[in-house]
Amino acid sequence: MYKNGEVCPICGSGKIKVEKKEEVFEYKGKKLSLYLTVYSCDECKEGFFDNKEMKKYQKIINDFQRKVDGLFTLEQIQRDKKI
Ligand SMILES: [Zn+2]
Repeated sequence: MYKNGEVCPICGSGKIKVEKKEEVFEYKGKKLSLYLTVYSCDECKEGFFDNKEMKKYQKIINDFQRKVDGLFTLEQIQRDKKI
C-alpha cells in the first residue's frame, strides 16, 4: 500500500499519485461498481494496483457472481414451482 507523494518503487525518482477509479463489472447483465485504488507515477507513468486490495475485490466479485447465479436459480424455481 502506497501513499500519495511516496517515491515510486519502479523508477525510484517519481512520486506516487493515489487515485480511486471506478471499475464496472458485468455478469449476466447485472452490474457491480467497484472503486479501485490505482497508483500511478508522475515520472515513469507506470500504473499499478494494490495486490492485497485486488484479492479483496476478487472476493467481492466472486460473491457478486454467486449472488447473481443464486438470483437466477431462484427465478427459475419461482417460475417452475410458483412459490
Ligand atoms: Zn516511477
